[in-house]
Amino acid sequence: MYLRQVYATKHPAISFEIFPPKGNYPINQLLEQLEIFSQLKPDYISVTYGAGGSTKDKTIKIAGMIKENFQIEPLAHLTCITSTKDQIHSIISDLSNHDIENVLALRGDIPTDPNFVFPTPLHFEFASDLIRELRKERKFCIGAAFYPEGHIEAPNREIDFKNVAYKAKQGTDFLISQMFFDNAYFIKSVKKLREMGVNQPISAGIMPITNIKQIQRIADLCGATFPPNLLKELKTRADNPKHVEDFGIQYATDQIADLLNSGVEGIHIYTMNKPRIAEKIIQNIRNLR
Ligand code: FAD
Repeated sequence: MYLRQVYATKHPAISFEIFPPKGNYPINQLLEQLEIFSQLKPDYISVTYGAGGSTKDKTIKIAGMIKENFQIEPLAHLTCITSTKDQIHSIISDLSNHDIENVLALRGDIPTDPNFVFPTPLHFEFASDLIRELRKERKFCIGAAFYPEGHIEAPNREIDFKNVAYKAKQGTDFLISQMFFDNAYFIKSVKKLREMGVNQPISAGIMPITNIKQIQRIADLCGATFPPNLLKELKTRADNPKHVEDFGIQYATDQIADLLNSGVEGIHIYTMNKPRIAEKIIQNIRNLR
């Protein structure tokens, strides 16, 4: 089922994001977690794509497994900056062979290796290039990423939102946001995108903080702002991992409750492959939906 149909009927659409097992670990390792995720009845589950396509086969196989074994609609992430046109077409065939109808079309991070050689010609410089290519196929429902605080490389938010509005016009069916910890960023940026003519449904990306080390990693990776109060509360619990986790779950729950009040169209939970955390959040918000 195309996710645009899900967004048309579910308010809000609830989704989980998972990542393929790292290294040589088999994908079956995920079955136990997927079993619990599926019992929570999300509207869809997205599967990330390792930097530079490092998890290509696993991403597609896991997405296929989610559909076949658990009857839940998968969303396969796909990045393009390191790929040639032929490579992207080979992945498109693979997606179709696994009956995957929904793709999150991403540029991906620019490789940091100074010796990395980009494909020539560079067909896919931005996510919008991939979106146009996928759209030609006429068989995918296409999602794209957006950054409530602006993408880390963009000179400013205004320019970044214009780029999001442009990729939305190239054939994007829905958007999923980067994680944020201050709802004001999400609410204001969605209002801005609406004023710019972006009408597609937008899911809010929620990352439950479950350990202190995670915070610096997140900040380095995407530049999300941590409200001073959040940092203060986490620091007072730093010596007790269970208290940090409980607080992180409650913080995520409160964020979602506030977003539901503001009429959000989707909640996308970055689960970090931890179904028990997702389970607690879903239980907490059950009566609010
Ligand atoms: P784009 O939309 O192409 O934007 C990238 C930058 O280029 C932005 O600064 C933008 O303002 C600028 N830009 C865009 N179009 C133009 C233009 N026409 N002219 C000039 N500048 C332009 N990464 C992974 O490797 N695997 C994943 O599975 C993955 N999943 C993600 C899921 C979500 C929900 C999100 C929010 C991010 C995810 N990422 C993933 C990270 C993402 O790949 C990076 O943030 C990447 O740096 C940007 O990808 P994008 O698709 O947003 O790029």
